[in-house]
Formats: sequence, structure tokens, C-alpha cells
Amino acid sequence: MTIKGDYYEILGVERNASDEEIKKNYRKLAMQYHPDRNPGNREAEEMFKEASEAYEVLSDQQKRDIYNRYGHDGLTGAGYRGFSGFDDIFSSFGDIFGDIFGFRTGHSRSRTAAQAGSDLRYDLRISFMDAALGTTAEITVHKYVLCTSCRGSGCASGVSPEVCSRCQGRGQVTQSSGFFSISTTCPQCRGQGQVIKTPCGECSGGGKIQAAKTLQLKIPAGVESGSRLRMRGEGEEGLYGGPSGDLYVFIEVKRHDVFERKGNDVHCRVPITFVRAALGGSVEAPTLTGTEKIKIPRGTQTGHTFRLKGKGIPHLRGYGCGDQIIEIVVTIPTNLTRRQEELLKEFDRESEPQKSFFGLR
Ligand SMILES: [Zn+2]
Ligand SMILES: [Zn+2]
Repeated sequence: MTIKGDYYEILGVERNASDEEIKKNYRKLAMQYHPDRNPGNREAEEMFKEASEAYEVLSDQQKRDIYNRYGHDGLTGAGYRGFSGFDDIFSSFGDIFGDIFGFRTGHSRSRTAAQAGSDLRYDLRISFMDAALGTTAEITVHKYVLCTSCRGSGCASGVSPEVCSRCQGRGQVTQSSGFFSISTTCPQCRGQGQVIKTPCGECSGGGKIQAAKTLQLKIPAGVESGSRLRMRGEGEEGLYGGPSGDLYVFIEVKRHDVFERKGNDVHCRVPITFVRAALGGSVEAPTLTGTEKIKIPRGTQTGHTFRLKGKGIPHLRGYGCGDQIIEIVVTIPTNLTRRQEELLKEFDRESEPQKSFFGLR
């Protein structure tokens, strides 16, 4: 157990120093002892941590008051634990380092910056009926998820990423040739700024593994081929706290033997005998939800349509449903018995006067 130094002394300020002075001195020290500038220097590392801790307390009026009155023990009593490591410091004071080091906020920023997960596409073929009435589909998506073994860090357990020795964590190396100096992506860490000496065995250091996930997808009534359903957050998982992508399910609707969709109306053809067409009667017509009895008036012709209001497909956005359109097809018998043939001939003779009316003779 080391005895902690006085925070004011560490930062080199008076006890009544203003916030501005405290910040200014901390910046100076942080710059001097920043691990980027002192790779492998344990003493600098300690100074950097000490200064950061002092700054954290003195820049916070509440913590500073506790420290002024009760010292280090007061802070411990109040639950203050200090920093667990560099990452902790960088995430707390990123804005200050951002000023010092330009575009980067910390030595390991380039690797630990949050990365959003990619969106994924899934193609799903469903039946006509499922599209018309809605359903719940179970789909299995193969995607990359955070490695459960290292929780995305890519390190074997007990190991932390190390600052890349080639670029000192900058992710870029500068080569001078003559009057020019050219910055390129560091070949050792590929711009990550850090290297993992002992990668996680599960994900080989990538931080992600392939996994299959089964999802329940609610398909609303009224979807059609080309409809796109979005499942928020079910795409690939983000890295380092980044948001997950979305999953887009593209719907393709199979053809139906009986029904055909036109807009939100459902069309179907219902055959009736020529006798029923001529004499009238009724017929059972198929609908999306069962059958419906249709009254056939005398003399119904082929191609005649009946409209069943609201028996079609629900509007995906909005209220109500389309209609069902029933088209009558009058069928002509092909295999006649002798008796039927006689009857038809008689029927034909009986129709002679009508033919003349049409001027066919
Ligand atoms: Zn892993
Ligand atoms: Zn490097």
C-alpha cells in the first residue's frame, strides 16, 4: 500500500487554485507523461495516473470539498475508487486529450471507438394465405455476435491489448524521405493503435463469432412480394458499445392455386354449369376465410363478376380491407350420355325461332 501524495502538490497548484489553473496544469502534466509519448516507461505511467486522479478529484467541486475536509480517507469513505486503468481515464477526460492530441482522444481510441453493427438481409418466402391473413414466422439468422468468451475485447482472459510498439498507439507511421514525410497506416497494428499478444482462442482476436439466432417475426396481414419488415437491433452486434444493426426481412409471396391478388382485392374464378347459368341458382365460392354462398341469377354469362365487399386483403397501412371479386366461368360439358345428347338436340330444335331472331339463318 503506497501513501498517496497530496493532490494539490501533484498538480503543482495552490490550495485555492481556480478550476482554470487546475485544468491548465493537468493538461501540461498529461501531455508530458502521456503513455503515447512514453511507451514502456512505468514511472511516466504512474505520474500520468496520479495526475489524472488528482485532476478528477479537484475538478469536481463536491469531491474537492470532501478532500479538503477529510483528505484521502474521506474520498474512500464516500465511495470514490479512483481509476481502474488508462481506458477509464481516457473515457473520463477524452475531451481534454482531444485538445492535446488533435483528432484522437486517447491512446487506444482507434480500436475502442464504438463500431455500429451491420444491417442484415433475410429473404423469406411465405404462402399467399399467410400474407393475406398475417402470421408469425420463425426465422434463423446466422450472424456475427460479440464473442462470449472475451466479450468483444479479442484478448485471452487476463490479457489486455498493448500499445503498438511500432506506432506508439497512433495507428499511423511517418516515414521521412528527403524533404517529405509521409504518414501511412501502421503495418504492425493495421491502424488499430494496439496489438493483442495473446488473442482470445474463441474468436482469434476478432471479438466476434458466428452464431445462429432464432427469431419470432410477426408478419402483418396484407404484406406482399417486395414488402420489407425491419427488426430493430437484430442485425450484427456492434463492437465496443456501438449499436447493433437492424435486420431487414424481404417478403416473397408464393402464388395461390385459386386466388390472385390485385391491389387489395382478391380475384378468383368460379365455374358453374351452363344449366345453372341459364336457370339460376346458387354456388359456394371460396373466400380467404372460408366459403360464401353466391346467388346466381337466371341467364348469368361467363365473365360476369360478383363483388364481396370487404372480403379482400387488409390494407397494410390504414383501415379496412379490399374486396373479393368472383368471376363466373360457365362450363360446357364434354362427355355427354346418349340421353343428354337427345335432350340437347331437342333443346336446340326448341331454340330455332330464337336463332332466326338473331338473324343467324
Ligand atoms: Zn473472443
Ligand atoms: Zn501500430
